[in-house]
Amino acid sequence: MPAMNAPIASARRVGAKNSPPAKSDAKLSQASWLPDVPCADAREKKKKNSANARKAFPIRKIVSVWLFKNPPFCTSLTLILYYLHYSRMEIDYEKWQGKWQEEKLFSPKAGKGKKFFLTAAFPYPNSPQHIGHGRTYTTTDIYARYKRLQGYNVLFPMAFHVTGTPVLAMAERIAENDGEILDIFERIYHIPREKALTLTNPKELVSYFSREIEEGMKLMGFSIDWSRKFYTFDENFNKFIQWQFRTLHSLGYIKQGTHPIPWCPKCASPVSGHDTRGDIDPRLEEVCVVKFPSAKGFFPASTYRPETIYGVTNLWVNPAAEYTECTFKGEKLFLSKKAAEKLSSQFDINIQKTFKGSELAGTKCINPMTGSNIPILPASFVDELTGTGIVMSVPAHAPFDYLALRDAGSKILPIQVIELPGFGKCPSCEIVEQLKVQSQTDPKAQEATNILYKKEAYGGKMITGKYAGESAMAAKEKVARELVENDSAFLMHEIANSPLYCRCGALCTVKTVKNQWFIDYGNEEWKEKTTNHLKKMCILPEKTLPEYEYTIGWLKAKACTRSKGLGTVFPFDKTQMIEALSDSTIYMAFYTISHLLSNYPKGKVNDALFDYLFLGKEAENFTPDAKAMRNEFLYWYPLDSRHSALDLVHNHLTFLIFNHVAIFGEKLSPCQIVANGFVTMDGKKMSKSMGNILPLQDAIRKWGPDVIRFSVVGGAELSMDSDFSQSTANGVSGKLGQAMEMAQKYSSAKKHSPEPADIWLSSRLNRTILHSGELYESLETRALCQEIFYGALSDAVWYIKRAERPSLREFFEKWSILISPIMPHFAEEIWSMLGKKEFVPDSKFACTAVLPKSDNSKISIEAEFAEELLVKTIEDIRHILKLINRPSPKKIELYIASEWKRKLQKIVYNAKRLDASLKEAAKDLSLKNNMKECALLAKKFTGNLNVLTDKMLTSEQELACFLENAAFLKKEFGCAIEVLPDSDANGERKQKAACALPSKPSIYIE
Ligand SMILES: [Zn+2]
Repeated sequence: MPAMNAPIASARRVGAKNSPPAKSDAKLSQASWLPDVPCADAREKKKKNSANARKAFPIRKIVSVWLFKNPPFCTSLTLILYYLHYSRMEIDYEKWQGKWQEEKLFSPKAGKGKKFFLTAAFPYPNSPQHIGHGRTYTTTDIYARYKRLQGYNVLFPMAFHVTGTPVLAMAERIAENDGEILDIFERIYHIPREKALTLTNPKELVSYFSREIEEGMKLMGFSIDWSRKFYTFDENFNKFIQWQFRTLHSLGYIKQGTHPIPWCPKCASPVSGHDTRGDIDPRLEEVCVVKFPSAKGFFPASTYRPETIYGVTNLWVNPAAEYTECTFKGEKLFLSKKAAEKLSSQFDINIQKTFKGSELAGTKCINPMTGSNIPILPASFVDELTGTGIVMSVPAHAPFDYLALRDAGSKILPIQVIELPGFGKCPSCEIVEQLKVQSQTDPKAQEATNILYKKEAYGGKMITGKYAGESAMAAKEKVARELVENDSAFLMHEIANSPLYCRCGALCTVKTVKNQWFIDYGNEEWKEKTTNHLKKMCILPEKTLPEYEYTIGWLKAKACTRSKGLGTVFPFDKTQMIEALSDSTIYMAFYTISHLLSNYPKGKVNDALFDYLFLGKEAENFTPDAKAMRNEFLYWYPLDSRHSALDLVHNHLTFLIFNHVAIFGEKLSPCQIVANGFVTMDGKKMSKSMGNILPLQDAIRKWGPDVIRFSVVGGAELSMDSDFSQSTANGVSGKLGQAMEMAQKYSSAKKHSPEPADIWLSSRLNRTILHSGELYESLETRALCQEIFYGALSDAVWYIKRAERPSLREFFEKWSILISPIMPHFAEEIWSMLGKKEFVPDSKFACTAVLPKSDNSKISIEAEFAEELLVKTIEDIRHILKLINRPSPKKIELYIASEWKRKLQKIVYNAKRLDASLKEAAKDLSLKNNMKECALLAKKFTGNLNVLTDKMLTSEQELACFLENAAFLKKEFGCAIEVLPDSDANGERKQKAACALPSKPSIYIE
């Protein structure tokens, strides 16, 4: 089948583009050689480093490259013909979606066997879906389908989040005839302008876009149970959320008080992650503001390094900015006008007078810690909006301060406060010299600052003042506390990740709000319970675990109400609405009952009912309908897996743990969280301005759902952004056609007594089954797609080439089940084409089949190794033929390395060093008499220690391998083939044969 070869290579090249630098391949030789015994407890197994267990064989890579180079298959004409052929192959995916639906495969009944309940973040229906929205849902669906194959009764429901202002804001923009938005709808999403203009009513907008999203999810083949769908403005859901808040209140977790919170001055409303542009969660931090007294009043300077106060030589003001004289707690303060305005939302500050900063320059004030007299000087680097617009100058430890003094030609001398190993009396002077920073406006000044601050924070020791001898880190807190206690400083709040902008466009600030309602995530006892539960959870990717720990640690009271928006009325103040990150923390529990609750008498949906359903409090005699709901909840809970995007780790995903632990207790709290990165488009971030948004439904129409599913998860592991590339999608599409053709052509063959190629393929298939289990469990989607799609198919292609009577029946019966979570429609197509199954239990659909188990007794290291050796040797021969320009040789002789070379290689592998190796070799009788040659070879081996292995065939096995395949090689190269032990070489061949190494025969060409 000549046409098949070229695209394998091309698809493989596409796949290889995203491959890590052959990491797994290189591991082959060093990894454990025995197949892992599958572990019964998947969760336990996930904890293991599964990388050890996986051994991707380089054969797949080599095969692909080899096939690609192998003429005459890979002419461009073949490629074009190939794509023309396969791009026409289409799968009727809606047919399969219809069949699944008919059979109600994804609407599970509670109580039927072992369950698996998973949810993905519900979508916001204020605009259509693009391809980036597909990733989290695809990952979730792959997992859901995999769990179904394992025999679980799987529930994967979906609802719509309409809480807050995004829906209102979109309806408003449409009502205002916003050209940009209408243009995007029309141009990118093909929504006719007339239609879009009717979406000015929020409910209609929600209904329109939620329909679009639901349709897209169905077209993607997501195995969702839609019978439990709800919207967060539904009456029953509102009652449920109110119950949640009353429950939290009774636990003491809802508080009202006066706190600084992130704020939008234009909307006059608190802001959190869902309110900012780019969905960034504002982080508040406390900053120390030191008051420097003067004859006129106080000069407040904010600082993140209060311990450096002993080294303050002067203060800085921006001479060009506007400054003010204010009253604050009965004192007179001087600060920039912008800072005064900013701080007036946190403190009772009143502006009295306004003037230019230059007027302050030259004033003298006092360092409150040392009592020394210091001047106020002008500097252009001072930002009037940061802190107070007044900066304390510590030239010995702050490169900007040193540079500003140097730029001004000042005679002020730096005062050292912190001792830093490797630096002298003025670390900032030294770092400025090292980096050759020109002036305070040189961009390198910031770099110098970053380097020095980090070094001093982690390695600095105080040498001045009361805390001399302590680490700078420890002194920081103590100095701040002392200054505040002496009323020489106060604390203010800043947004640490500033500048952040509200969706309305205004810069977010901090405001101290009176009587604001909060969820008290700062409660220590609650934090502890949450941390305890986190320890028991499985967090994927594993490396995000510290982020959860960190978030639990820093979270403080979070404002939970807004003055406007859709959603649920706050039960303790009916003028307020519960905001979007606070009404979405336990809604997964609502899925368990939502389909039944909608038929329950409206008047009886109340707190008592929810107390019973979720907490088991039986205050009255509940009806059988209520009992059925209670049973549903108890059956499905706890949530087995929660799926979302990585940017929600710092808010939603952590809130989810907090609220579950508080309300349902640890036993019924989530078992696992899976978070994934974004999707980029042909290497670029998707954005309106880039004009590279690809609507999900457009993509499905173009490539079909399986290619899209594969493309959004196959290019990257969870923690990375995944790139959707059109050329990869085309390649995958072509490969599907190729797989289908192989399945059609080679699956009818009758079983026969296995030939060596069958033993090899069976070994590869069982290994793939074994690895795929681990990869599915840990959702290493990229490795998974490489292994079971590109890898397995390239095995099949190679097998067809090698086998005399190829039969892929068993391969495709098992493979179609294995690939079905990722490419369900395609899997069904092959599954139905195969008809009655011979090697796996038959079932109506691939997606309801039983997951094949690996038969480890069929994994043959020798068979795989011999095949790999053959492929590598063919590669080497081709390489040599090309080098010597001999396209048609007369004869090829292969010399196989003797046993003593193998023995020596193992010795060097273990001893690592030349002298030790030779010492060891001298003890061996078979090597002892050959020490001169041993020394030469051992030297060669020690020079390649990083690729050296102790795993190899015996000289006899290697010889047998080539003798068995001599006919194949003869066919490949069209010439005579001779295989000999290196010791049998005569005459001029002798020297050549001596170069034979284990797993690397010496090649002689005539
Ligand atoms: Zn705003």
